[in-house]
Amino acid sequence: TIAFLNGEFMPLSEAKISPMDRGFLFGDGIYEVIPTYHGKAVGMTGHLSRMRDGLAAISITNPYSAKQWQQNLDGLIDANASHFPSGNIGVYFHISRGTDTKRYHAYPQNITPTVFGFAFEIAPAQPLEADKVKPFKVALEEDKRWQRCHIKSTSLLGNVMHFQAGVESGVQETILHNSDGIITEASSCNVFMVKDNAIFTPPLDNQLLPGITRQIALEAFKQAGLVVEEKWFTTEDLFNADEVWLTSSSKEIAPVIEVDGKTIGIGEVGQMWEKAIKAYHNYKFEA
Ligand code: PLP
Repeated sequence: TIAFLNGEFMPLSEAKISPMDRGFLFGDGIYEVIPTYHGKAVGMTGHLSRMRDGLAAISITNPYSAKQWQQNLDGLIDANASHFPSGNIGVYFHISRGTDTKRYHAYPQNITPTVFGFAFEIAPAQPLEADKVKPFKVALEEDKRWQRCHIKSTSLLGNVMHFQAGVESGVQETILHNSDGIITEASSCNVFMVKDNAIFTPPLDNQLLPGITRQIALEAFKQAGLVVEEKWFTTEDLFNADEVWLTSSSKEIAPVIEVDGKTIGIGEVGQMWEKAIKAYHNYKFEA
C-alpha cells in the first residue's frame, strides 16, 4: 500500500522515521482514524477539529490546513483504491512532535512535526437488520489509564492493556469504569446503553475520548426523534440495561450482548439497535 510521510506519498515499506522520533521514544503525538466508504469520509470536520484540539493541548503546531488534510486523505484513498476494491478504507494520520538529537522530556523548540498516514481496509457499513450483525461480548475493568483521556494521544499502552485483557478472556473489547463504578468508555470505543426505550451515553469530560461516531450518532438519534441523553451510568445500570452498544469509526454502532460473562437484556441484538443504525446510516454523510 501507499503511505504518506512528511508531505510525500510512497510505498509503506519505504516510509522510514528516526528512532529518535518523540513519537517512538515518548508516544508524544496525536492521531486520528477516519473511515471512508467509496471515497466519502465520515465526520471529516469532527476528526479535523478533534485533531486540532489535541495538537493545541500538547503545543504542536498543526502542520496542515483543513484543506490540506483533505488533500492528504484524498491522496491516500486514490493511491490505495486499487488495493482495497471494497472501497471501505480507513485512513490513519499520526502527528508526532518530531525527531530530536537527544532524549529529554521537555518539548524541544525548533523541531518539525513528523506526519505519517496510511490506509487500511475497514469492515463494510453495518447491516440494518439485527439478525445480520455479529454482536460483541466484552470484558469489564476498572479504567487504569491517565486523566487526560479526552486527548487522542498516541501513548496507547493503557488502552492496549485493557483491550488485551478482553482478548485474553475470549471477548472482543473491554468496557471501563472509574473507581466510583461509573462507566466511562471502552478501550477503543465509546459506550451507549438503552433502558426503557431511552438511549444514554456518558457526557464528555477528561475520562473519555470525544468519539466522532458518538457525536454523529447523538445527532442522528435526535434527528430521528429517538430519546437520547448524555448521562453518567454505573456498572449496575449497565448490567440492568436492555441494550448496550459500542461506537467507533471502524465499528459504527456495534451491539453488545454480554458484559463480563453476564447477559445483557435478552441476549440478542435489540430493536432499538435497528432504529439506531438506520438513523446513523441516514445521517452519517451529512455530519
Ligand atoms: N474511545 C477510545 C479510547 C478510542 O480509541 C476511540 C477510537 O477508536 C473511540 C473512543 C471512538 O472514537 P471515534 O468514534 O472517533 O472513532
